[in-house]
Amino acid sequence: MTTVTMLGWRDRAACRTAEADLFFPEAEPGTEAYRQQAQAPKAVCAGCPVRWHCGEYAAGTYQKHGIWAGLDEAERHQEGRRRARRRRERTAA
Ligand code: SF4
Repeated sequence: MTTVTMLGWRDRAACRTAEADLFFPEAEPGTEAYRQQAQAPKAVCAGCPVRWHCGEYAAGTYQKHGIWAGLDEAERHQEGRRRARRRRERTAA
């Protein structure tokens, strides 16, 4: 169960006053247009003090769309694979 305390990090998010649409580029993922549209939200994320929390939240809730913690869909997918590989390596060690 998600509680208000667990989501308290959002109060310190750099994007808390930004338009949510900024973080959901309209262009097709993987295209140059998408890459260009993703630059602005990624710049906001770069200076965000709760980026780690945001990334954990996005991974834990399987966010499929948009920019979270400075990562787009493909980058989150790659990060998820890295996390899974690290878990397997720790389990095997
Ligand atoms: S990392 Fe980016 S999307 Fe996540 S809370 Fe911060 S500004 Fe918002």
